[in-house]
Amino acid sequence: AKSQGRAKYEIFDRAMHGTMLRALKMEQEIRRALDSHEFLPFYQPIVDLCSGKVAAFEALVRWKKATGELVSPAEFIPLAEELGLINQIGQQMLQMACAQISTWQKDFPAEALQISVNLSGKQFNQPDLVDQVDRAVAEAGIDAQFLELEITESILMENTDAIVEMLQRFRERGIRILMDDFGTGYSSLSYLHRFPSNVLKIDGSFVRRMGDDTGSHEIVRTIVLLGHNLGMKVIAEGVETFEQYSMLKSMDCDYAQGYHIAKPMPADQATTFITQRNLG
Ligand code: C2E
Ligand code: CA
Ligand code: CA
Ligand code: CA
Repeated sequence: AKSQGRAKYEIFDRAMHGTMLRALKMEQEIRRALDSHEFLPFYQPIVDLCSGKVAAFEALVRWKKATGELVSPAEFIPLAEELGLINQIGQQMLQMACAQISTWQKDFPAEALQISVNLSGKQFNQPDLVDQVDRAVAEAGIDAQFLELEITESILMENTDAIVEMLQRFRERGIRILMDDFGTGYSSLSYLHRFPSNVLKIDGSFVRRMGDDTGSHEIVRTIVLLGHNLGMKVIAEGVETFEQYSMLKSMDCDYAQGYHIAKPMPADQATTFITQRNLG
């Protein structure tokens, strides 16, 4: 039994070794990708349920390798967070999103399109996060109110006072805060009043189940009412069918985002999408 145990450890060690080597290799690749600007935003439209027009876009990071291969964030964000590299990825995303806001402001001034950028909780550990955002906004020469920031409830678990203060500073600049994945956290309700956010994004898991169970339908309806009673706007994400879209519209939900409208796409395609949907 003893030698068997040792053999197991050996296999475990080898497996660990392999995992560590892969992580190391990935770290080098991410650093190199940052230098050569291989991270870029795809944009997914968020439409106004009253007018059907595009009101905003969410910026979602993609890693476009030199080979043209696109890597999804699920494959590198967790490691980037662990290595502290998410700060640089996040900063590049902010800069590119602000530059895109500037372009769309010039091309479509009447549409007042906003772009929301996802922030990892780890980014709030940087005391100069607000300065970074200020710099990105100033460099692009845009009005800060066209930038929005998405955060998840999970960041509120730690160091709440410092985070609340940063969020307040964002809001002073006219930057709206979107509470992402709303409803999936442990204490969504208790954070709502402590946490200065402007918009609730109902998690796609509720939206997807809306048609087949009345529970989910009621949850979505209740979150919309809750948000409105607190003076917030409400976005439903993960809208995949016409049925879900119409249900949300009849519930007076403000905005919808999901494959039913469009998948995330490169900036040039998003520009075409605006032209067709808002000016067509
Ligand atoms: P998220 O912020 O909740 O983003 C929504 C995800 O759902 C996106 O996946 C989007 O492509 C996908 N999605 C949109 N509509 C639909 C739909 O109708 N059905 C389904 N099944 N999925 C839909 P994506 O782009 O792979 O991003 C995954 C996650 O990675 C994001 O979840 C976010 O947590 C993270 N992420 C993406 N970009 C960034 C970024 O720039 N910074 C940080 N920190 N995290 C990011
Ligand atoms: Ca998001
Ligand atoms: Ca989400
Ligand atoms: Ca999510």
